Amino acid sequence: MGSCAQAEPSGGLTFQKGACCLCGGEAGDVVAQISCAIPGATSQVFSFIECPKCRILFLDPRPTSETLHLAYPDEEYYSRNLDKLHLAAGERSNGLKARLQSRIMQAYGLVEGKSAHGFCDIASKMTIYPLLIRFSALLGTLIYNRDVFRFSRYPARVLEVGFGNGLLLYALSHLDVELFGTEISQKACDAAASGLGAKTFCGQMWEANYDDGQFDLVIFSHSLEHLEDPMKALHEARRVLAPDGRLFISAPNPDCLSARILKSHWLGYDAPRHLFLFGRRGLKKMASEAGFEMEKVTFPLEGSVHHLIGTIHSALGFRVFPTFVERSLPAQALYAPIAMIGAGDVLSAVFRRC
Ligand SMILES: [Zn+2]
Repeated sequence: MGSCAQAEPSGGLTFQKGACCLCGGEAGDVVAQISCAIPGATSQVFSFIECPKCRILFLDPRPTSETLHLAYPDEEYYSRNLDKLHLAAGERSNGLKARLQSRIMQAYGLVEGKSAHGFCDIASKMTIYPLLIRFSALLGTLIYNRDVFRFSRYPARVLEVGFGNGLLLYALSHLDVELFGTEISQKACDAAASGLGAKTFCGQMWEANYDDGQFDLVIFSHSLEHLEDPMKALHEARRVLAPDGRLFISAPNPDCLSARILKSHWLGYDAPRHLFLFGRRGLKKMASEAGFEMEKVTFPLEGSVHHLIGTIHSALGFRVFPTFVERSLPAQALYAPIAMIGAGDVLSAVFRRC
């Protein structure tokens, strides 16, 4: 589960030698080996190699630029939750859940001009917060990282690079922000544009010709590890960010406990779609090279538990935990000590421009 791409029946993926995205080095220790049966082609063994200089893991071999898109079966990869985006606009203005969400955003000061000190606000935090985490994990992400998502100007301009099924854009649409997003899937772009009113660009971010300093926040949420040239993307992020803007990166953490114990079953490897993996050190080095300073690192519980459970299912070969377990507070509470020692499955980091 999660370790193999389903290519087109004709196969079609071709491969080239992998290399570190920061220094270009091709040598290093093999950290994991993943065997994939690619339909119509011979089984392929992929390695993740750790660059000893940069502490970045790179996939070897990796798909060639020309065939990389075959690693993304459009329907399966993007269509999940796209329907939700079409409903999003209506849901925001109607319904009890939407009102609760709006109330909680106010309580946490994430909506412009609202104080976070009133009795009702404190009561909202105390009583609704667990419910919110249960029903709307993405809003939980905004709250956990509220320093990042509380902007100095409104409407803030936010760019998400590789927004996938658009769920984070959807969460962001609850804030007073102008949404921008890039994706290589036209279908995903259309859904985010029509459902959320996001200004989408189909292609690579550097092809979109954004202005210098146009954005208050640039987000790579589980997308940087998919890019052929993450450094080019980080340099471009630096260019399009305002001087006081922030960069937010969330990605699988290869230094996590489950990768060490369950090895190649770890969901975060996801060969051949994940071309690079960066722990705290590697990410800090890359961002520093691109002109960013790391401000904060967290290991979000929701995403981490999701990765761990997926990894366990992969190792066992069948599912034992129903989906709701990932979102349950007891599961997250049990996982919390792992996150606290920095060994969480998913890493989120905030950077500011140097
Ligand atoms: Zn390197």
